[in-house]
Amino acid sequence: MFAKTSIFDIIILGVIMENIYGYTLEMLEEYLASIGEKKFKANQLYDWLYKKRVNSFDDMTNVGKATIQKLKEHFSLEKIEIVTKETGKDVSKYLFNLHDNNKIEAVLMYHDYGTSLCVSSQVGCNMSCSFCESGRLKKVRNLEAYEMVQELLLIEKYENVRISHIVLMGIGEPFDNYDNVMRFIDIINEDKGIGIGARHITVSTCGIVPKIEEFSKNKKQVNLAISLHASNDELRKKLMPIAKAYSLDELMSAIKKYLANDGRRVTFEYIMLKDVNDKEENALELAKLLKGMNAYVNLIPYNETSHIEYKKSSKDTIMKFYDTLKKNNINVTIRKEFGGTVSAACGQLRSNYKEGK
Ligand code: SAH
Repeated sequence: MFAKTSIFDIIILGVIMENIYGYTLEMLEEYLASIGEKKFKANQLYDWLYKKRVNSFDDMTNVGKATIQKLKEHFSLEKIEIVTKETGKDVSKYLFNLHDNNKIEAVLMYHDYGTSLCVSSQVGCNMSCSFCESGRLKKVRNLEAYEMVQELLLIEKYENVRISHIVLMGIGEPFDNYDNVMRFIDIINEDKGIGIGARHITVSTCGIVPKIEEFSKNKKQVNLAISLHASNDELRKKLMPIAKAYSLDELMSAIKKYLANDGRRVTFEYIMLKDVNDKEENALELAKLLKGMNAYVNLIPYNETSHIEYKKSSKDTIMKFYDTLKKNNINVTIRKEFGGTVSAACGQLRSNYKEGK
């Protein structure tokens, strides 16, 4: 299976060029076989692209001149561009310009255990969660796999760092761009290339049930996080339009199937919104909902943004909520706050940066 042609492939002299960074190892093998070349050359290409990180086919000295010529006719090595970098404590936010001049952001975070990159998966987002800044610009388009791969490659180079963890929690809904996101994961997970372990990769979704079902069949050892944010349907519908499409019952049964299939613990993200979802009764209801599941709750202190009315719950309220969950045998953590000073925190990323408002 080769990558299907998209409007982002470059057309030169009537020949469609595909970006090579969007090809999994298997796709490259198939492509090489289709042009009468040896499949193993895909390993060499991965080595040049992702271990040695060269930027030109001419530097790939062991691949053979004739093969290189054919590759040059089919593939582009073009990169997206870094426009700006803003730095806060333990965090850097990058703004990228894409080939069609759309903009996206990615955030690098330094932790004790390594570095994690928060990757965007779409330009804009259609999920319209009421608390989230990233959804203020409606989806313009999906990101191609190569664009997500390049978010990582460019930041590693710029920052001279190796990224150990990937979270798909930037702009966009990863399960609304399922195929490209899965391909991106295959590419960065490949040992012969970047080699980020599946257990170091987390996909976060607002809860698109059919895609959770598809994901649970696909047997990747990647972590799944669910943006839950409410303990009942009524409240969830007010916060997240996706809850009108899929009830909590449907969501929970898809997650239970996923757990039965895979066994990897699921994370439930729960933003703490002052006087909205942070009461004792919400904690009790949440505990009941998650009882007995191989899951844990990540409480997220809300990052306030200038356009949205919600306020952050107080530290005290968050601690009480935490204690109630603990007492009811729910595994729970409170997310470390990152990036607030440079608007790089969850829900503060935007793609309509030009408005600057
Ligand atoms: N669309 C995906 C991934 C992007 S958001 C999803 O919904 O999971 C990553 C996480 O940040 C989600 O849990 C999201 O709900 C949360 N988030 C959004 N806005 C936020 C804000 N202002 N403060 C804190 N977390 C926020």
